[in-house]
Amino acid sequence: MARPMISVAGIRGIVGESLVPEEFLRYILAFATLCEGGPVVVGGDTRLSRHMMRHLAFAGLESAGCEIHDIGLVPTPTVGLMVRELGARGGIAITASHNPAQWNAYKFFGPDGSFLSAAQNRALLDVAASGAFRRAPYRELGRVKSRNDAIARHLEKVFAVVDTAAIAGRKFRVAVDCVNGVGALIMPPLLEGLGCTAEYLYTDTETEFPRNPEPLPENLTELGDLVRSSGADIGFAVDPDADRLAMVDNTGRPIGEERTVVLAALALLDRGERGPLVVNLSTTRAMDDVAERYGVELHRTPIGEAHVVGKMRDIRALCGGEGNGGVIYPRVHSGRDAATGVALVLEAMARGQVRSAELNARIPDYVMVKTKFGVEGQDVAALCRRVADAFAADARIVTDDGVKAVFPDRWVHLRASGTEPVVRVFAEAPSLEAANSLVQRVGEITAAPHESPGS
Ligand code: MG
Repeated sequence: MARPMISVAGIRGIVGESLVPEEFLRYILAFATLCEGGPVVVGGDTRLSRHMMRHLAFAGLESAGCEIHDIGLVPTPTVGLMVRELGARGGIAITASHNPAQWNAYKFFGPDGSFLSAAQNRALLDVAASGAFRRAPYRELGRVKSRNDAIARHLEKVFAVVDTAAIAGRKFRVAVDCVNGVGALIMPPLLEGLGCTAEYLYTDTETEFPRNPEPLPENLTELGDLVRSSGADIGFAVDPDADRLAMVDNTGRPIGEERTVVLAALALLDRGERGPLVVNLSTTRAMDDVAERYGVELHRTPIGEAHVVGKMRDIRALCGGEGNGGVIYPRVHSGRDAATGVALVLEAMARGQVRSAELNARIPDYVMVKTKFGVEGQDVAALCRRVADAFAADARIVTDDGVKAVFPDRWVHLRASGTEPVVRVFAEAPSLEAANSLVQRVGEITAAPHESPGS
């Protein structure tokens, strides 16, 4: 049987293949054990396997004596936010995020409302492997409490951090693609609360995703068409669990999800907030430009929301996120949240009296190229050293996560995939040609014959 994928982002698999109940139940039981039978918030996205995953999670949590706050269909950030609001011991989001419909996953949150840290995740795996699970006696089995106020409480926090009157005063026209995910439940009340008129694509939460659900530019052509036909000021697209946000400008052109976090940071800095910013190593260098323009520090971490959030906590960052459309503004929630991104970008448009294309033009343009190279049988650490050596003469070398060579106006980053025998290579430069040339140089090093250690 195929094995599930286990990482700090949770445990995921393909239904009936790498996702089978007897295997996934172990992780629920381990999580319930770590929560010592305390209250746990459970919510998730719309994919068809949600019912099986939910019943399985409930059975495991109940067996350990955990009270379950069932918040139903909600964005992933809403689960984390409700863990804190309710003072729960943990949370579980049932979602495979941007993965296609046959996938599903459990994502675990700690009592602080953030994804488990690497150490907490190791503890979870240890308990799952040991089989030493907490068992509640029959009178103390957990009960389920259903609540339907989670999205409203999430939105209260979003509305509290933006100038809702200024946004509403502009009466924006907006187009939204919810890909039949939980965006369909949070975007309408969000946009209504901000005085926008909205037209929607794919808001049927009982129907399958109509396309590849990742909000990449190639998947947003219908949204671009809707923006043009409806004369919208901006188009928004979210992934099925509404933590990632991508945008289309008022001409129908995708802005590119790399730029979402940059525009959100710009919105905060522009209204006078100050503090350090945090993004991962592969996020666009437009973020450096914005940080420099406003005189704030920018920190970069290894890839993964847990790393970004951990750093943000350590340095009390103003905001942060990832280039996959993930905006993190701790005043709302210490995790990626599309709703916060929407509100901040609309506020920036309202304050600047601009439409989305003009707002986007306020940050420098770069071209990013993302590819992968097969490295079957290769020692990836040795490959990283060879890449570092090749670029060391004229670039700053960062080795926090794979190897990244940073030049004044461009960079290339190589890291091992956690799931396939490949290295992922990202490069960004002022032109496509320059970005491609960096990728090509890494490709040549990857393919070149080399002496294996000890030979
Ligand atoms: Mg997601």
